[in-house]
Amino acid sequence: MISFYPGPSRVDDAVPQYVKDAHRKGILSMNHRSEEFMVMSEKTVELLRQKLNIPKNYSIYFTSSATECWEIIAQSLVKSESIHLFNGAFGEKWYDYTKRLSPNAQPHLFKHEDQLDAAKLIFKNGDVICLTQNETSNGTQVNGETIAQIKKQNPNHLIAVDATSSMAGIVLDFKAADVWFASVQKCFGLPAGLAVMVCSPKAVDRTKQMGEKKHYNSLLFMHEMMDKWQTPYTPNVLGIYLLMRILKNRDAIDVVEQKIRKRYEEWLKVFKKSKSLKLFVKNPDVRSYTVLTVAGTNEEIVHVKAESKKNGFLLGEGYGQFKQNTFRIANFPALKKKEVRSLMKFLTTK
Ligand SMILES: *Cc1c(COP(=O)(O)O)cnc(C)c1O
Repeated sequence: MISFYPGPSRVDDAVPQYVKDAHRKGILSMNHRSEEFMVMSEKTVELLRQKLNIPKNYSIYFTSSATECWEIIAQSLVKSESIHLFNGAFGEKWYDYTKRLSPNAQPHLFKHEDQLDAAKLIFKNGDVICLTQNETSNGTQVNGETIAQIKKQNPNHLIAVDATSSMAGIVLDFKAADVWFASVQKCFGLPAGLAVMVCSPKAVDRTKQMGEKKHYNSLLFMHEMMDKWQTPYTPNVLGIYLLMRILKNRDAIDVVEQKIRKRYEEWLKVFKKSKSLKLFVKNPDVRSYTVLTVAGTNEEIVHVKAESKKNGFLLGEGYGQFKQNTFRIANFPALKKKEVRSLMKFLTTK
């Protein structure tokens, strides 16, 4: 079965070999305070910086999940009020999780076919603006210029961006925001249980200014530990090792993005030809390159999902309110040309 699920998704073909290597090299029982660990952690951070074009003055941390990053932001970076711009289920979940820790969180909804109108997004209230760059639940994205403009217009706010299903798949303009994060089971092509969080100097300053140290994962504590390439708790050492190996083998992010966008263009052709299936997001300006949501009637969707399974393709279920009449397809780097071609061929006839 080939998984086209947009997370957890198909892992990179090389992962089984890397796991064997990890076992052979003693990584599986490596002490997280050891010199070897610190060397590996530093190397992984360097590779992230190099392959994803993360600015030199931005700090990089390891966490366990994107959900953990939501909470870290709520506890360690929100002074009194966060503003949540969202059009789908993940953005809404982020808002819900934040509200429990920081009750003044404000929702700011927009429609999934609409581009965020950055010119109107000037906030007098709030101190962190949260947005989801790639909304995995409906297959939409917010472009880099919009994020940059929001930042420019709100110089007293931090801009925090959930890029879980786009980081390592498309080029992100890290300078356009203060906090970026992603877990590795999407575009990195790795098993779940590790996430990467990237912070601007302004975000680090905010952490220091707030001095919040009540939690094992308080950002200030994490920042201090990362001075020695360590984490406050025993991290997913195997996950970090796999991340290092995957990154070493990956092309620079602009090359990866070209490949992803080329495939995306091919997917557009498939749904032009298909009789019953069409793309759920009509507006090409907001459509995600890495997660495609496909719509049809309930019966067609049930039929296509069942037929796909019989043919060895696992499609992503529709999410939330769109569960019945959509399915989702990952367009992630670890998927192989041959696999993508065969699903394309199959869906063209539907
Ligand atoms: C998958 C996903 C998450 C959740 O990731 P976890 O690693 O399970 O916490 C959060 N946000 C977005 C946009 C996602 O796609």
